Amino acid sequence: MSMCKNLIEKYADLIVRTGANVQPGQVVQLTVSVEQHEFAALIIEACYKAGAKKVNVDWVFDVASRLNFLYADQETLSRVLPWEEAKMKQMTEDLPCRIYIASDDPDAMNGVDPHKLSGVSASRATVMKPYRNAIEGKHQWVIASYPSKKWAEKCFPGCPDAVDRLWDAILRTVRVREDNDPVAEWKAHTDFIESKAAWLNAQGFSSLRYKSKNGTDFTVELIPEAKWEGARAKNSENGAFYIPNMPTEEIFTSPMAGRCEGTLVAVKPLSWNSQLIENFSITFEHGKAVSCRAEKGQELLERMLKMDDGAAMLGEVALVPKESPVNQCGFLFYETLFDENACCHFAVGMGFKEVLPGGDDLSMEQAKEHGINDSIIHVDFMVGADDLSIDGIRPDGTRTPIFRNGTWAMQENEGNE
Ligand code: ZN
Repeated sequence: MSMCKNLIEKYADLIVRTGANVQPGQVVQLTVSVEQHEFAALIIEACYKAGAKKVNVDWVFDVASRLNFLYADQETLSRVLPWEEAKMKQMTEDLPCRIYIASDDPDAMNGVDPHKLSGVSASRATVMKPYRNAIEGKHQWVIASYPSKKWAEKCFPGCPDAVDRLWDAILRTVRVREDNDPVAEWKAHTDFIESKAAWLNAQGFSSLRYKSKNGTDFTVELIPEAKWEGARAKNSENGAFYIPNMPTEEIFTSPMAGRCEGTLVAVKPLSWNSQLIENFSITFEHGKAVSCRAEKGQELLERMLKMDDGAAMLGEVALVPKESPVNQCGFLFYETLFDENACCHFAVGMGFKEVLPGGDDLSMEQAKEHGINDSIIHVDFMVGADDLSIDGIRPDGTRTPIFRNGTWAMQENEGNE
């Protein structure tokens, strides 16, 4: 830890109190790399100071994961062991507050057969899905990050101060500085995002129209009863608010699965299963991806879109103005948590049933009837070009500009409509 200890404690505290919002008496499940054990200790202590009943730690060691993938066979790796399933089942009873600290080397899985990787993750996800569905919306969780040496070197190749530079960027995006009160800044930030979501919800748009000089020419239909959400989420079991992603800049909803037309052109590379897909576009017809083109990673992109029936359909539409601090940092983080908060994006794959009224209590089958997409994957890709324009269209055909030149068209409608 080369950064000032005080700043790191401030960050750990922010993750626990504002992000996860750990409540007195709650069990906490922390997932963190063995390399970040010092930071893990700060998080654990902050959890207990917030009143946690018990903090359990899942240690991640990506070198071991890589070796397992290189040497163990696919069938063995795909099998979810009884104790792993029992642990997930226990979580459906304890509903622990979950804290994930992302710090992985983006190249950790280089050299591992991508078919093996996606095959293993697909079979494991299928077994775990009922448990994931059972705790969805009923526990608080947050994903934050910590800069590992390998990750920093990936972002800043050849820079002796790579870790410090990644630290600076992370702290900038999560609004932690020597001289500020990050809790107060997060309050203002989440209020702004929620005011924009409220404005969108009041407009009654039935579809969105995207256009950009790079070739993006796209219309997506919305689900009439689905809400736009952002920043905070609420645990329906205890009413506690939490911030699932730190940083977060997006306002998102799930569009009507199977109802979109046109081409989306990506403006940033996509890192999927530790591999890069670059300079790509996806064309949709009748709501399904029918073709895609990538300068790099064509085969990978095709496979991603064929992971299952829902993988070729949209699960998320998200609005992020180009002024986002992540975008201002100006480099690729090789980590969705950051890269998806750079600009406007979509995700193929699983949608969010919680955007529906009473969505947390709906089964995935019921959510699908409303138009929420279902899939084992959820992969974000960025389309927020600097000249992107987005119009909202109502059922009667009237239109209102939402985005112009990559940012909010009307800055003045913050919260007063
Ligand atoms: Zn998103």
